[in-house]
Amino acid sequence: MAYKYIDNYREQGARKKLVEELKKKGIDDENVLKAIGKVPRHFFFDETFWNQAYRDIAFPIGEGQTISQPYTVAYQTQLLHIQKEDKVLEIGTGSGYQCCILVELGAKVFTIERQEKLFYHTKQVLPDMGYKARFLLGDGSKGNIRHAPYDKIIVTAGAPTVPDELLKQLNIGGILVIPVGGQETQKMVTVLKVGEHDYEKTILDTFRFVPLVGDKAW
Ligand code: SAM
Repeated sequence: MAYKYIDNYREQGARKKLVEELKKKGIDDENVLKAIGKVPRHFFFDETFWNQAYRDIAFPIGEGQTISQPYTVAYQTQLLHIQKEDKVLEIGTGSGYQCCILVELGAKVFTIERQEKLFYHTKQVLPDMGYKARFLLGDGSKGNIRHAPYDKIIVTAGAPTVPDELLKQLNIGGILVIPVGGQETQKMVTVLKVGEHDYEKTILDTFRFVPLVGDKAW
């Protein structure tokens, strides 16, 4: 682990408080809460902003993008029902925080980002923090056929519709979690693939994501 990734008592304490806050807000999956309690979210912030790292808010990471709010990360992760060794495609790597939560849960993560600067940055810093994943550069609105099929797919940007390509790249029994709606707000949608062409779709709460930009998106 590189020298600048230091997890002090102050940050560990703040992280515990964040976990308690998420419990109060309705996150009840113990494994997800444990993962949130483990991943040092301040590693994704400049030291000047460490006092913001354990607030339950999204925060700018450059390139007009954000590190998602911890509640949103926990909410989406909970819906994925991650099992150890699950092969997961994350669309929208961003800071890499969500990716680390998935890795903590034992998933084998393929994560795709369309913005080169974010891609190269995250691909470099995550291994320094001790997190291994496969980093892909490109338009994730089409999924990533090369490594398909996946047990789970999570989209961390707001889509206008559920792209068919993502459904095709799921294993039977697999789950897709994707925010769908307008460019301002979206509903969280889960799709369970019950057969080769059969899906069970559930529409959940309202969120506010940056747009999914690409061929099968905005
Ligand atoms: N998961 C991230 C994290 O933990 O920090 C948060 C992601 S941020 C809310 C959304 C990300 O999706 C941005 O980095 C954006 O560049 C990326 N994105 C948008 N459209 C995309 C696409 N078609 N393919 C891949 N990434 C995309």
